[in-house]
Amino acid sequence: MKEITESLRREAARLLNEGVELFIGYAAGTRPACARPFFVTKPEEVTGLVFDPFCVPNLVKYILRHADKKVAVVVKGCDRAAVDRLVAERHLDRARITLVGVPCGGMLARERVLAELGPNPRIEAVEDRGPSFVLRVRGEERTFEKRKFLMEKCLGCTRNNPAGVDVMVGKEAPPVADPEYDPLKEIRAIEALPAAERAAFWEKVFGRCLRCYACREVCPACSCTECTFEQAVPGWQQGATWISKAKSLPDNYHYHLIRAFHVAGRCAGCAECERVCPVGIPLMLLNRKLAADIASLFGETEEDPCGALCVYSLADPDEFE
Ligand code: SF4
Ligand code: SF4
Ligand code: SF4
Repeated sequence: MKEITESLRREAARLLNEGVELFIGYAAGTRPACARPFFVTKPEEVTGLVFDPFCVPNLVKYILRHADKKVAVVVKGCDRAAVDRLVAERHLDRARITLVGVPCGGMLARERVLAELGPNPRIEAVEDRGPSFVLRVRGEERTFEKRKFLMEKCLGCTRNNPAGVDVMVGKEAPPVADPEYDPLKEIRAIEALPAAERAAFWEKVFGRCLRCYACREVCPACSCTECTFEQAVPGWQQGATWISKAKSLPDNYHYHLIRAFHVAGRCAGCAECERVCPVGIPLMLLNRKLAADIASLFGETEEDPCGALCVYSLADPDEFE
């Protein structure tokens, strides 16, 4: 991991010297076992950059806030797809962005690591040894088998070396995916429930949503300048919006179902929405279900930057014919 970090710092300094105005990468977080987005504008600041298995945030959304600048951004494989979608939808000008790809050995699930190490460990170094990460904590080596400690999205990852980037740092990472992982297992189990139990499951899940909108704010596919949930309803009493600001189960359903359909076919699968949710709502169940339905209806569209629902074709399946 040390080599990737050093290589990143070198490339960041070079790019900033060559006219890039903003380099977006990661710095060590203020809490243990996490990293935070780090915005570098001067070559002398690159020493703050890091890369390790806690660099989870997808940084692509931040480019939208700096779309007028020449930006370089660090991308893992799962972040990369979001760039193509935003370029295809004309939110981003690809010519202004330098993509700096990192070979990714997977990201560790922070909560599970802290459960092993205690709440406030001092992690001194991290080494990727293929099937495991070795963390040095107070001079002692602790091994974390990837199959047990990776984030769920990594267990099914087939793109851990990002393609089509402008600069690649470090050596190619070996595959991360666990061949025994089944991304649809939980979804099939829910689908097999009787309708009343399925409804009870979702009622319990959506009932605890606070509608803080963190899942929307972090999502690179939620790229509208004004979100539909904040738009005034035309012709209604001044200030009325499509859903009330109050937290209620019907409005929570409304929010989640509409958002799921708005990102359908455009979701990059980065799992950021689920990660940032303060009450642990399993949003990836919805995202994976929609991705599987789209794949079965339209074929695999993961590599198509426009996504299945953004193109028109006479050959589209149409069950109303
Ligand atoms: S999904 Fe793939 S690219 Fe993304 S963090 Fe996991 S292993 Fe890395
Ligand atoms: S982040 Fe969680 S609590 Fe907040 S709106 Fe999204 S699902 Fe609801
Ligand atoms: S819906 Fe979730 S997984 Fe999909 S792009 Fe948005 S944040 Fe990532």
